[in-house]
Amino acid sequence: MQTRIRARIATLTFVLPLALSAGATAGEGPDAGKALAFEVIDRNAQQMTDISDSLFYFGELGMQEFESTKLLKDTLTAAGFRVELGGAGMPTNLWAEYGSGHPRIAIVTEIDALPGGSQTPGTYERKPLVSGGPGHMEGHNTHGGVASMAAFAVKEVMARQNIPGTVAISFGPAEEQIASRPFIVRAGYFKDVDAIIYLHIGEMLATGYGLQNYAAISSIFTFHGKTAHGAVNPWDGKDAVDAVELMDIGFDKLREHLRPTYRAHRSITAGGVQPNIIPDTGKIWWFVRDASMPAAKATYDKLLKIAEGAALMTGTTWDVQYAASAWPQLANKAIAEAIQPNIELVGMPRWTPAENDFAKDFQKAAEKPVVGLRTATTPPGGRVQSASSNDSGDVSWVVPAGLLNFPASVPGIEYHEWKAAVTPISSISHKGQVAGAKVLAASIIDLLTSPDLIQKARAEFEVESKKTPYVSLLPPDVGPAIDLNRAEMEKYRPEMRKLYLDKTPRFN
Ligand SMILES: [Zn+2]
Repeated sequence: MQTRIRARIATLTFVLPLALSAGATAGEGPDAGKALAFEVIDRNAQQMTDISDSLFYFGELGMQEFESTKLLKDTLTAAGFRVELGGAGMPTNLWAEYGSGHPRIAIVTEIDALPGGSQTPGTYERKPLVSGGPGHMEGHNTHGGVASMAAFAVKEVMARQNIPGTVAISFGPAEEQIASRPFIVRAGYFKDVDAIIYLHIGEMLATGYGLQNYAAISSIFTFHGKTAHGAVNPWDGKDAVDAVELMDIGFDKLREHLRPTYRAHRSITAGGVQPNIIPDTGKIWWFVRDASMPAAKATYDKLLKIAEGAALMTGTTWDVQYAASAWPQLANKAIAEAIQPNIELVGMPRWTPAENDFAKDFQKAAEKPVVGLRTATTPPGGRVQSASSNDSGDVSWVVPAGLLNFPASVPGIEYHEWKAAVTPISSISHKGQVAGAKVLAASIIDLLTSPDLIQKARAEFEVESKKTPYVSLLPPDVGPAIDLNRAEMEKYRPEMRKLYLDKTPRFN
């Protein structure tokens, strides 16, 4: 009986390698490489999710990812990677690599959390772990585990099969404020890279091609006036908040004349002190977006004119400060066509009835369609352009880029809400991470072992990227905002520290 059970298990674990091609595990070539990578990932699944779960409890905001990058640096160094922390002027910018020379393939992803996202995992009643604290309500914590796991699996295959080239990971800081990638690109990190795969959690196992999200430009406008007593001598004052209001009204008049694809939203961040003081300072922070960067830039240039007009009308002066920017992701079709067969090969995780029931109950409680978990992979072209932005877009205009989403979220539960912090360390997430790491590793193996694929991706990139030549929106004298979120993180870290998992994951 014992023997028979063991034999059946052995047959089951052998199903996947056999699906690749006969005798794949023992031999050479990409199929054998993928089979070996899958073995490594299955063997290290716990280590992978220990990383992701640890990052969940660190819950670090953008530019403050100190504990997260320390864990990743230690883990990847122990796994045989060369790790650089602090490049491009950002203390939490991490670049890790193994191997040498070309092809050079990089995984690009991020690990930051969101303000107010603290939530007790596993329960969909609002229950913060630390009241008011930040947390992973998008699941970027999973990126640390999946990217590290996939890169390690690829490293093992490269070593075993003597595959030349380099596998790298770029963990960029502060994606939630689209605040780092333009600097990483400007510092030249991708100049010598042949292709990247951008990794992000999702509810689908999917890739895509073409423009995959929106361009965004974020700037803070400050008007400078002259203060005066609101009743005694208002004629001596120049009201800076009047300029803010006129800028707002001016843009509303423009809205009718913009392309339907545009998005623009603002927040008045300095709107006066009290009514009887004419304010000498007014601030308004704008996000302008569109489906392409030239379209977003055209709207942004009009916004500058509106600011000028508002200043003219109020006798104030104004200045504008660059806050952040992101190009839309330009996803490469040749790489998508290489990723898709790996998606089909790995397939969706097998969910238990309990996991599916949990998802349904959660969807019901969140007043979303009660559809449970996805069971089918997403067909080619099933991923459409979204109006959100991601600063990894800048990378995709300087190097051919593939995209991969892995299914570690409950469908319908939107990110940037505390509800999305309920499942990032659940078994649903853990299974999705295994699937994601396998597809990612297999796709990198394809990129490393197929010069034709690299060439095809490059040829497509040369045509597509030249249609809209990349220009950095960074003003030359602007550096990264490394103090971003510092005060907020310092406020909550002492309480959050009590919950750290204290794991030391080691891949083997
Ligand atoms: Zn994200």
